[in-house]
Amino acid sequence: MNTIDVSSRRARAIFYSSGDWKRIRQDRLDLDNNECQWHKAEGKTLAAGMHDEHGNLVVLEVDHIKELADYPELALDIDNLRTLCKDCHNKRHKRFNYRPSKKKRKWDDEWW
Ligand SMILES: [Zn+2]
Repeated sequence: MNTIDVSSRRARAIFYSSGDWKRIRQDRLDLDNNECQWHKAEGKTLAAGMHDEHGNLVVLEVDHIKELADYPELALDIDNLRTLCKDCHNKRHKRFNYRPSKKKRKWDDEWW
């Protein structure tokens, strides 16, 4: 397997726009039933198409359990991925005060 370059913001953007990532990301979402795995662990269902406790439409993101920057060799390892809602993903990366991008993106994974 090729080593994936995630050493710069630009390199990560290229990774997150790759067909390989989009495929494995979708596979992970399917395996997780399009459901936030942290909410699930608390006995709550937060799935695509639902609204969260604030009335916002659920946004699901696919998280690298071992972080991409530290474990680039696991970038496309499906066992290293999990589905989280945007809120849980923000908590996981301790980004409470992040500013959402003005540009609409289909996915926000590349924030991380
Ligand atoms: Zn969640």
